[in-house]
Amino acid sequence: MRWEGGRRGGGVEDRRGLGGVGLAGGGAGTLVLALIGYFVFGIDPFTTQQVVRQFDQAVPQQGKVGTPEDQAGQFIDVVSANINDVWARKLRGYQPPRVVLYERGTQTGCGFGQTAMGPFYCPNDATVYLDLSFWQEMETQLGASGAEFARAYVVAHEFGHHVQNITGTARKVQAAQQNAPNQAEANTLSVAMELQADCYAGVWAASAAVASGGKVALEPGDLEQGLRTARAIGDDTLQRRSGGQVVPERFTHGSSGQRVEWLKRGHAAGDARACDTFAAR
Ligand SMILES: [Zn+2]
Repeated sequence: MRWEGGRRGGGVEDRRGLGGVGLAGGGAGTLVLALIGYFVFGIDPFTTQQVVRQFDQAVPQQGKVGTPEDQAGQFIDVVSANINDVWARKLRGYQPPRVVLYERGTQTGCGFGQTAMGPFYCPNDATVYLDLSFWQEMETQLGASGAEFARAYVVAHEFGHHVQNITGTARKVQAAQQNAPNQAEANTLSVAMELQADCYAGVWAASAAVASGGKVALEPGDLEQGLRTARAIGDDTLQRRSGGQVVPERFTHGSSGQRVEWLKRGHAAGDARACDTFAAR
């Protein structure tokens, strides 16, 4: 993936090195291994609030705002700026989210966030939270691709949730979930939300080069690496990996096949209107 000449200014706040306040014992690694099957790739923002409440400690943290100096931080900054440029062209009234980099744990508008939750978006403070050490877990534990584009896909997926927040889809789905007759139905709605975020990531990928004058662009083979990651984090693959049966009613993010399909569809269309995962189910 080409990105180094891309525009900076992705709205990054760098909290790395501040330390994870209030983190439960066992260390981040243990938590990651215990929870990876549930939380990989950002959990449902509404369940986040329940999960993290027990860790909630009102210690505000303020990191360094601006482009980080290290390569990994700059990558997030440039990719985020590019995703913002793409959505600013496609969505009237688009406002960029904040992007917080942290290590182990940090305070969020949705309670206490930690590495084990994976990358996630909090609608309450319109912020994408990323612990960059999570890439390594995804790649070594789950067989996700280590390619830069595969990581950018993860970031773009979280920005996809931000888009859903702006369009009002997130609120509508939350209301529908509260009225759902059972958990299986609520999960179906969650899957549609997640697949739409995958599709939006594809829409971004299709438009990255145009929005950056070619400075941020996919290179040959990149899309395949993104698809490999999408496949690695499908619910059926994760359920199988954790030694259990495949239970579609418990899917919250979609099967590997569905995630691959919607990332592809978004990329092929380059248009958010191709991402009506709610009508498609
Ligand atoms: Zn998601």
